[in-house]
Amino acid sequence: MFKDYPLMKTNKGSVPMFYPHIPKKTLKTLKKVFSGRWIGEGPLVDLFEKKFADKFTKNLPCVAVGSGTDALHLSYLLAGIKKNDEVICPVFTCTATNIPLLYIGAKIKFADIDPDTFNISIDHVKKLITKKTKAIVFVNYGGLPCDLEELNKIAKKNKIKLIQDAAQSLGSTYKKKPITEYADFSIFSFQAIKHISSGDGGLLCFKDKKLLKLAKRIRWFGIDRAKKQGGTWENDIKEIGYKYQMTDIGASILIEALKEFKKISSHRKKIFNIYLKKFKNNKYIKIVNKNGNFTHSHWIFTIITDRKDFLQKGLRMANIESNQVHFRNDRYSIFKKFIKNKKFPNMNLIQNKYLVLPLHTKMSISDAVKVANTVNKILS
Ligand SMILES: *Cc1c(COP(=O)(O)O)cnc(C)c1O
Repeated sequence: MFKDYPLMKTNKGSVPMFYPHIPKKTLKTLKKVFSGRWIGEGPLVDLFEKKFADKFTKNLPCVAVGSGTDALHLSYLLAGIKKNDEVICPVFTCTATNIPLLYIGAKIKFADIDPDTFNISIDHVKKLITKKTKAIVFVNYGGLPCDLEELNKIAKKNKIKLIQDAAQSLGSTYKKKPITEYADFSIFSFQAIKHISSGDGGLLCFKDKKLLKLAKRIRWFGIDRAKKQGGTWENDIKEIGYKYQMTDIGASILIEALKEFKKISSHRKKIFNIYLKKFKNNKYIKIVNKNGNFTHSHWIFTIITDRKDFLQKGLRMANIESNQVHFRNDRYSIFKKFIKNKKFPNMNLIQNKYLVLPLHTKMSISDAVKVANTVNKILS
């Protein structure tokens, strides 16, 4: 049975699960934006795209949008996914990964998880491929990259597109290369609790440079904005577009956050490593993690324990918030039509046993030690 825990009230000494990272200089930067001419999509959005591409995508094209979900929808459209096309998706993820496929009317083929990493099960993906498969969507859960080489092999062999939901894996690398090298499309999220945030925001990155103009047009009604601003007011609109652009307000906050990314990621790594070390010898805990030739981005720290409810209750009594964060997507009514007779044995195994611990930049190292010690005391 799922047991729900409402958001914890925070007070002195409590440790919440998440906390947004907002650089100190943000207010000063915003003041400048608010006294200027552009608050909607303007030059700072272009600048943010450039800086992001330079830092994270080895200069693959980047298009900044209003949310990670916007970026996912755009990537599905640009990948050519149409009504009734089959798309293989993770059954365990933030619902945002899968919901935009419903906008299109695509047929979702849920794949089970790998029980060690909670990433998509490669074996199950292979079994789900048919002639109608248009794309594979995968998430690097918590910041731990999937087997990206294997996914690329499968995609190449079957001539299908790879779409990487990298909302949780900002800064992750695979075999020393940015993860964006390993998918036709990669999306990022700057929602409130992600590594860097503008409240809401997102970004789409892709390998085919020829798609850039189309991506920018469908980000904005289907109108060629640059051309329009150049004075051509009689532009035709040939594609149905959306209103998915980022604003300069958001971009200015994110540009400040990029400057602190190193600090953000090293702090997250420190907390993650404290948990790793402290739980290594606790026989009641299995850590969701794996080592390999990649870097983790340490977005969340997840454990598996048979005594999940007991632990969660104990932590709450100690003023420490914990949560499952995501749930298997096949439990939601909107996906019911895709799950008839489908089995997800690995998901079944862990669905009531995983728990995510606090991890954010507002936590001190001693907060992390306190959380870990409390967990160890409860589960001993
Ligand atoms: C946060 C998140 C999203 C959604 O991004 P939004 O910016 O909130 O739209 C999508 N997928 C995953 C895996 C996420 O963690």
